[in-house]
Amino acid sequence: MSVRDFTMAKYGELCRLLLGAGYTPVTVNQYLTDPPRGRTVVLRHDVDRKPENARTMAELEHDLGIRSTYYFRHPATFVPEVIRQIHALGHEVGYHYEVLAKAKGDYEKAIDLFARELADLRSLCDVQTVCMHGSPLSRYDNRDIWKRYNFWEFGIVGEAYLSMAGGGLRYLTDTGRNWGGKHSVRDVMPGADGAVPVETTDDLIRWIESREAEGLYLTVHPERWAASEGEWATGYVMDLVMNTGKRFLRLGVILCV
Ligand SMILES: [Zn+2]
Repeated sequence: MSVRDFTMAKYGELCRLLLGAGYTPVTVNQYLTDPPRGRTVVLRHDVDRKPENARTMAELEHDLGIRSTYYFRHPATFVPEVIRQIHALGHEVGYHYEVLAKAKGDYEKAIDLFARELADLRSLCDVQTVCMHGSPLSRYDNRDIWKRYNFWEFGIVGEAYLSMAGGGLRYLTDTGRNWGGKHSVRDVMPGADGAVPVETTDDLIRWIESREAEGLYLTVHPERWAASEGEWATGYVMDLVMNTGKRFLRLGVILCV
């Protein structure tokens, strides 16, 4: 029986395929500081909602011997118990910042907020990397804060978009429930190769199987991967609503130009 897409079971299938194809999964920090040789896949999770899904995913990966990176928002998914548990499973914990959107473009306020929220997360565990939250309905791109400030000054070794660009990795994200990137407003890598002809996770699996060795960088939002039928149905409708919102946003952007 085939497994429904965007379920934890399907994610497990994807992980086993990657391992079977000889890929070594790594965290963002590992990739930046001590990358392995050979087939590498960077596994990144933006915990935008439902931290309990992140925990389920982290356990699933741990059972398969996989270490990945989980980025937590503040305060949306700042749940100390879950963050500590995921860290204890050997995963990397990072900070999913959205400070420029929160501060409505005020850079000074934004960087103060960055320092405070990062310190909160560091009171729970070690944090070496950060990753912008796309804030798709905000006019501010959170990454822009690094045009004025430097994350090195906060003891951060890398940013999950800016520091990973140009490394030759093929970037794919499940944003909008479509691996081909057609619903990504900001979730794109600067300078990355063109779109990949995949939509479903089965497409992605077939695509990976058909490729020669290359570096992969996958972003997987745990809240999108349901552990039950009811959760799957709710998530499907939410993505539909969000994708419609983004289409209006694009239209707005086009009209404003
Ligand atoms: Zn996010």
